[in-house]
Amino acid sequence: MNTDSATDTLSHVKAPNWTGGKVDSFEGAARVLTFADLPLGKNILRALADIGYVNPTPVQASCVPLVLAGIDLIVQSQTGTGKTAAFAIPTIELLEPGARKVQALVLTPTRELAKQVAGEFERIGAHVNIPVATVYGGTGFQEQYDALETAQIVCATPGRLLDLLKRGAMTLDDLRIFILDEADEMLNMGFEKELDAIVERLPTARQSLLFSATVTE
Ligand code: AMP
Repeated sequence: MNTDSATDTLSHVKAPNWTGGKVDSFEGAARVLTFADLPLGKNILRALADIGYVNPTPVQASCVPLVLAGIDLIVQSQTGTGKTAAFAIPTIELLEPGARKVQALVLTPTRELAKQVAGEFERIGAHVNIPVATVYGGTGFQEQYDALETAQIVCATPGRLLDLLKRGAMTLDDLRIFILDEADEMLNMGFEKELDAIVERLPTARQSLLFSATVTE
């Protein structure tokens, strides 16, 4: 991706629990030249170099420091801006490698997006021990059960995730980071009831990140 063209796409970042108030643009973003300027561990920097990501896109430069600081965010950003890595990079940095429990959950409206997001987590986490499971409907359960035995990051569509939770195949009791990707699309597709049922099962002490192409009050 050409990061120059990404600067044309304005990403609005709001941080509901940021005591300084609403953040519409992040001035620090302009000063971040490369990923090495961000407070990231060497294993992640090595993976980013392997992938060929050198300069953060604007949404990445804005979000990574805020997510690392533990802040909840509502981010308005389109597909193609690098939004997946904007949440995947700091999430991997924050998780504890080797802990055998689900620490991060990403909900997506479609199975294709769930697979894409899981792929990005796997590439960025290639040099850390943080297993990823992808969970979606319309296919057998066994492979997903097996992946959930060691998963620390779960990328899921809402229906199958809820099904697995009800069957006791996984728990979200140790969740630290909850990410809602393409939230507007999720609501357009009628997933509101499933979303509510999933959110009810999340620990209240967690970090929440919401990404959406459109953001309404
Ligand atoms: P997304 O908006 O997450 O769908 O990402 C769009 C595309 O941009 C994907 O093909 C990513 O691999 C690519 N991409 C994400 N971040 C960067 C970056 N910092 N530098 C170059 N390409 C990137």
